[in-house]
Amino acid sequence: MKRENFIIAIDGFSSCGKSTVAKAVAKELQFVFIDSGAMYRAVTLYFLRNQVDLGNTKDIENALAHIHIDFLPEADKVRVLLNDEDVSEEIRMMRISEKVSEVSALKAVRQALVKQQQDLGKRRNIVMDGRDIGTTVFPDADLKIFMTASTDVRAERRLAELLHKGESVTIEEVKQNLAHRDYIDSTREESPLRQAEDALVIDNTHLTPAEQLQIVLSEYAKRAGER
Ligand code: C5P
Repeated sequence: MKRENFIIAIDGFSSCGKSTVAKAVAKELQFVFIDSGAMYRAVTLYFLRNQVDLGNTKDIENALAHIHIDFLPEADKVRVLLNDEDVSEEIRMMRISEKVSEVSALKAVRQALVKQQQDLGKRRNIVMDGRDIGTTVFPDADLKIFMTASTDVRAERRLAELLHKGESVTIEEVKQNLAHRDYIDSTREESPLRQAEDALVIDNTHLTPAEQLQIVLSEYAKRAGER
């Protein structure tokens, strides 16, 4: 039987503007927006704070059992709660970006988070962005988007974001971090970043957020009409 709810999966490399589009689509369609990367970042923050040994499966499983992640929607943003603490700002910092791909390559971490993400997508309309949403989390998503953009544009966008938040980083550091994460994310064994065969590819190097939103909305209208 066909699901009643509509699932939009948005995947792609780091800093391709996935969340920006996902948020705008969710707002326009009144869907629930779920940033799956924020969940991996929150786990990474917990692991760093508690000095979890990434080579010790028991340690990892024990830590995962103590982690609860929630999303708290507000007017123009969604807050990320780690065991009831608002960590929305902290998880975006460079020290988390530097570790998150190692943490998210761990099998136990992926299994726990993929299950939570699938539960979040039950019985409601959602837009979820990440790396493996259209391939592993929701292989039967109603609409799959794969976003790309040139490395330079991605690095510039990320740098602007970090500088705005007061971090002192250089464009080289940002580029290195993006390349490092893309490499680990696409080569890991557990649900690597890959374009789903039935995904619509959007290269947004030269597109404004409004133009991207229009592409996704018109594709949504087509698919929703076919159901
Ligand atoms: O989307 P964002 O850049 O915040 O994601 C941070 C990291 O979390 C990614 O570099 C990747 O290692 C991991 N991630 C993942 N699978 C997802 C979402 C994010 O492995 N579905």
